Amino acid sequence: MSESPSAELLTEAATVAAQALAAIAAAGELESLAAVRARYAGKNGALKGLLKAISGVPKEDRPSVGAEVNRLAAHVEAALEARKAILESADAEGPTDPAFDPTLPGTRLPEGSVHPVSIVMDEIRAIFTRMGFDEASGPEVEDAWHNFDALNIPAGHPAREPTDQFFVENGLLLRSQTSTVQIRVMESRKPPLRVFAPGRVYRPDTVDARHLYAFHQVEGLVVDEGISFADLKSCINSFARSMYGIDVVTRFRPHNFPFTEVSAELDVRCPSCGGDDAPRGTPGRCATCGGEGWIEVLGCGMVHPRVLELVGYDPERWTGFAFGLGVERVAMRRWHLDDVRMLEDNDVRFLRQFR
Ligand SMILES: [Zn+2]
Repeated sequence: MSESPSAELLTEAATVAAQALAAIAAAGELESLAAVRARYAGKNGALKGLLKAISGVPKEDRPSVGAEVNRLAAHVEAALEARKAILESADAEGPTDPAFDPTLPGTRLPEGSVHPVSIVMDEIRAIFTRMGFDEASGPEVEDAWHNFDALNIPAGHPAREPTDQFFVENGLLLRSQTSTVQIRVMESRKPPLRVFAPGRVYRPDTVDARHLYAFHQVEGLVVDEGISFADLKSCINSFARSMYGIDVVTRFRPHNFPFTEVSAELDVRCPSCGGDDAPRGTPGRCATCGGEGWIEVLGCGMVHPRVLELVGYDPERWTGFAFGLGVERVAMRRWHLDDVRMLEDNDVRFLRQFR
């Protein structure tokens, strides 16, 4: 089927305009530019021919076809003028500065480096991606449902105190944990699922060597039929081996979180001192564990049946586990930083060490 006369003309106009623009860009001196101008925009040029051809298209198409051909012609005209200005100024400058030596090396630009928090985050991301987790994300400004209610933190719970949160307005707040993403994922997807969610969280802590008001967490969530605490342990232990080495020794300590039951914290035997007969609490004994022999890595637990119910999953059919870890804490231990503010200050003298 052949095209309508209007469509044919528009195609031709676009082709001619593209050829004209290429020829203009390639014109190296004013004489060749003048030849290009004559060929396309001159009295007998290709664009003039197209403008004449408009009278041959059906009457009802003429206004729109005419507008488009005129627009292309104006565009070519503008490109001709711009190129002319460039060539004229190059002419005015005369021959290239004889002192310019194109064989000398150029000016070296400062090279950036990856921020230590990003280094750790990327490692964690790589580990969980390898284990078949999808990456998920959620908003940093959250509502009370996702930050509290759906996580089994009821009204009146001390964690909801205004002094413990950055409330914005209309009951919205800066999320205090990435667990909010667990709820958002479960609300929007059907199980089974296996996701991790790295992100920034906010708490109104006074900034000191150990605290920031904004820091990073990585959250993880697995929901499927028949998931048990054994799955949690095997998954978390695999993560610890990938992160701290195949010989890492782990221990799970009972803990309490509102959104998991049972809950635990994972410690790993200090990778620096090996935890060897380090007297408990001896200060300065080991830069990594402070003489504790163990370092706390993450919080975890089986997703509370109430949380599953609140997002509309049947807790009789589905079970799951969740975990969350602080990224800055991992970075501090890894590089023996005694002040978390170093990760926040963006001081290049500090950051350029992480190449
Ligand atoms: Zn140690």
